[in-house]
Amino acid sequence: MTTMQQLFSAYQQRCSQLSKSSHPFAKGVAWVAGDLVPLQEAKIPLMDQGFLHSDLTYDVPSVWDGRFFRLDDHLDRFELSCGKIRLKLPISKAEIKNILVRMVSESGIRDAFVELICTRGMQSVRDQMMNASQGAAPASHNLYLFITPYIWVMQPELQLNGTGSAIIARTVRRTPPGAFDPTVKNLQWGDLTRGMFEAADRGAHYPFLTDGDGNLTEGSGFNIVLIKYNILYTPDRGVLEGVTRKSVIEVARKLGYEVRLEVVPVELCYRADEIFMCTTAGGVMPITSLDGEKVSDGRVGPITKKIWDGYWEMHHDPKLSFAIEYQARARL
Ligand SMILES: *Cc1c(COP(=O)(O)O)cnc(C)c1O
Repeated sequence: MTTMQQLFSAYQQRCSQLSKSSHPFAKGVAWVAGDLVPLQEAKIPLMDQGFLHSDLTYDVPSVWDGRFFRLDDHLDRFELSCGKIRLKLPISKAEIKNILVRMVSESGIRDAFVELICTRGMQSVRDQMMNASQGAAPASHNLYLFITPYIWVMQPELQLNGTGSAIIARTVRRTPPGAFDPTVKNLQWGDLTRGMFEAADRGAHYPFLTDGDGNLTEGSGFNIVLIKYNILYTPDRGVLEGVTRKSVIEVARKLGYEVRLEVVPVELCYRADEIFMCTTAGGVMPITSLDGEKVSDGRVGPITKKIWDGYWEMHHDPKLSFAIEYQARARL
């Protein structure tokens, strides 16, 4: 079994290889209006409703050690999210998949953060409805794709040292499902951004947001898992249904742990034996301090460690990932 230290040092080696590349896509590449461009040069039109009204949905799969991980899960959620807010992908999932694979392959990036964004496009909802009432075909929605070297919501050093800290946000609550459906991955981050500032003000790394009614929801781009008496708890509502959360549940159940998806009272956070956060951009991220107090003995817990191992092992499972054939000129 690979330890945390081994996994991170292998990753660091791949990063230093990549840093020697002079390929224009080595620092990232975007697909905009059918063209591939170096990420730093990519532009969006000002009048895109995605920019003007945050009228969009997005998704973030990843590539780890040269393999796409759970890409179909992300594409399925992306398409579902589009449907929930009445967006239609301008090209099929199969076409998107081909383009993404080409982008990774040409860039030479072996560990990638991959983002897909579908916006309302150049026509506002009102214009779109007006056109529809006049029988005109709807304007197509816009799709943007980009990849960058892997991004860590929690840096490897913090994971290794087990020094991740969080607070239960007091100044802001999570946007309620009756305002914006949180199962649609979105960039209406007003609540999450406020939470991040509060965490920083209170000397912690991450905010945990409640539903305003004494229950836990999620944080700035991650789900939250609590462990008490060998049972894992994670909120079943008011949150994005994370693909990492799904992986965590699969790993935990395979290891024989009970996992409960239910309403999680905030109060359980203060009694938890272990706490971790999970997201595609960072994996399983241990929290050892909450509201300035240690979680148990203040060290990464044994179940968190096992789930961490199982999660990263999954990335080489051919049922969940597939290898990218890198282009010769991008091969390092
Ligand atoms: C992306 C995201 C997550 C984590 O989802 P994954 O599919 O595991 O990456 C959790 N909460 C929010 C608000 C998110 O945006």
